[in-house]
Amino acid sequence: MRTKVIAANWKMYKTPDQTRDFFRDFLPLVSDHTRDEIVVCPPFLDLPAALESAKGSNVAVGAQNVHWKEEGAFTGETSVVQLVALGIHHVIIGHSERRQYFGETDDTVNLRLKTALEAGFTPICCVGEVLEEREAGATDDVLRRQCTRAFHSISAKKAAKLVVAYEPVWAIGTGKTATPEIAAEAHAVIRHEASRIFGEEFASNLRILYGGSVKPENASALMGQEEIDGALVGGASLDAKSFAAIVKY
Ligand code: PEP
Repeated sequence: MRTKVIAANWKMYKTPDQTRDFFRDFLPLVSDHTRDEIVVCPPFLDLPAALESAKGSNVAVGAQNVHWKEEGAFTGETSVVQLVALGIHHVIIGHSERRQYFGETDDTVNLRLKTALEAGFTPICCVGEVLEEREAGATDDVLRRQCTRAFHSISAKKAAKLVVAYEPVWAIGTGKTATPEIAAEAHAVIRHEASRIFGEEFASNLRILYGGSVKPENASALMGQEEIDGALVGGASLDAKSFAAIVKY
């Protein structure tokens, strides 16, 4: 049995005060929830407020990115050392918005992933095809390439805490959701690739989340698929009631 992970990606939304307000409303709604792991990933600036608010609760706080160097002249970047000093141990890596707008490549995803795993983090590594790739029938090849490159020269032992998120780019923030069947098929491709790279046992324990317009209304159908081990939620995670409803699908 794989414990599901329900993770929130707040992208570039909320101030520290709004972060505190969210946790004030959200925590009582999920305080008795033990079935799944819950992670909230706010912008860097909100991490201290989130950590302070979530202290002693069943909700972990994660970052949305991390650099692969421990320190250095890398303006605008954040290191694992800095995140650990705050008390952060979860991080989203390779989100499609980073790939699309900030020059993230399969190779930089690999560097970030290696560093995060080395530091004992639980990385949520995002993969997924754009619409043209899906329409061209290239989805499986894209997922295989993204996984092969992201996991390059990482051992199964090192990758133990790895979580993968399948996020079809055409479904992110668009209101279009992959059907549970489409998502489950893509998850099977990712699991097969993980099995080829890390071995069968590793792959059978690997948690693969679905992300792309998950809402309270579709969470249960998606989570009902055996292949889907949780959700990475953008827009619908910004509201405490809506994210709590997804957690409790
Ligand atoms: C995301 O940002 O990872 C995401 C899935 O966004 P949304 O739920 O808004 O589609």
